[in-house]
Amino acid sequence: MELNITPMREWLPDVKKPLIIAGPCSAEHEDQVVNTAKEIHALGKVSVLRAGIWKPRTRPNCFEGIGEIGLEWLATAKKETGMLTTTEVATPEHVELCLKHGVDILWIGARTTVNPFSVQAIADALKGVDIPVLVKNPINPDYQLWLGAMERINLAGITKLGAIHRGFSSAEKSPFRNIPGWSMAIELKRNFPNIPIINDPSHIAGNRDLISYVSQKALDLDLDGLMIETHIQPSVALSDAAQQVTPERLGEILNELKVRETSSDNQEFTDQLAILRKDIDELDEEIVQKLSTRMKIAKKIGEFKRDNEVTILQMSRWEEIVEKRVSLGKAMGLDEKFTKELYQRIHSESIKMQEELMK
Ligand code: PEP
Ligand code: MN
Repeated sequence: MELNITPMREWLPDVKKPLIIAGPCSAEHEDQVVNTAKEIHALGKVSVLRAGIWKPRTRPNCFEGIGEIGLEWLATAKKETGMLTTTEVATPEHVELCLKHGVDILWIGARTTVNPFSVQAIADALKGVDIPVLVKNPINPDYQLWLGAMERINLAGITKLGAIHRGFSSAEKSPFRNIPGWSMAIELKRNFPNIPIINDPSHIAGNRDLISYVSQKALDLDLDGLMIETHIQPSVALSDAAQQVTPERLGEILNELKVRETSSDNQEFTDQLAILRKDIDELDEEIVQKLSTRMKIAKKIGEFKRDNEVTILQMSRWEEIVEKRVSLGKAMGLDEKFTKELYQRIHSESIKMQEELMK
């Protein structure tokens, strides 16, 4: 379906890209919220204060959020700093309480986005309400589920809509707590250029040391903002202690980030870029033509195999191809993993085509 989106510059007119959202994982006590807010605000770069009020914890008997009173602390922090506020809602009751206490922006958490019943219940509670809603990606890398949640919220009449990329949970060993799915974020941007995408480096990284790296990557991919968990005293935080940064560290991270332009007025740069892009276009045309020729030959081989009753997959031949191509690529300055993955993809396409012939 088409989404009806109000561009972010209309609902956050004073915010210069990238939008920075910062604040503690959880609101714990009033001083923690208000003092964190004041220090964050003093950096001059943060527009929105975040704090979780109801916390979806993996195991019971952990701190599950301070509840409604925390919304009053958010309101106090807003009064003292002028920053907008945002928190996570997972039920219609959360929505109602946030509206009662004047929260400015709502977000739907990754554990809620996975469940269409929960998202629909929130959407129903939002009918007739005019408030921006940010939808985190589901914990599993399912683009349709992410999009479906945004569609449900949009169908309820919310047009001030944004997405948050917070990475995907995986059994794979990785330096990240949640593996980033940059290609899915880019796909979303390509299909819905009006939906702002905020990156959440804190939940992707899972530890404070990787936050600056992930944030820069998000900006280099032209995402629209960052949500960074920031706590006045991260070491004693009641949730996500390892990934929260102090307001001071947040300041350093934000100062070091390079915000690159997507275009430039410099004529020489524009001319050079046009020439290089033309070269790329020509090379891509050649690559596609060669791939098409390669597939035609693979098809012919498939026909031979079929007519002579030979199996499609000949492991030794395949291993030889990968080995030779990877070492050729390496000699020509290509990354080994890249060449290997590329050939695995080409090979699986050839196999698929040859299987069709056997039917
Ligand atoms: C959070 O933002 O603190 C949170 C619980 O995030 P997520 O839904 O991405 O796990
Ligand atoms: Mn958190």
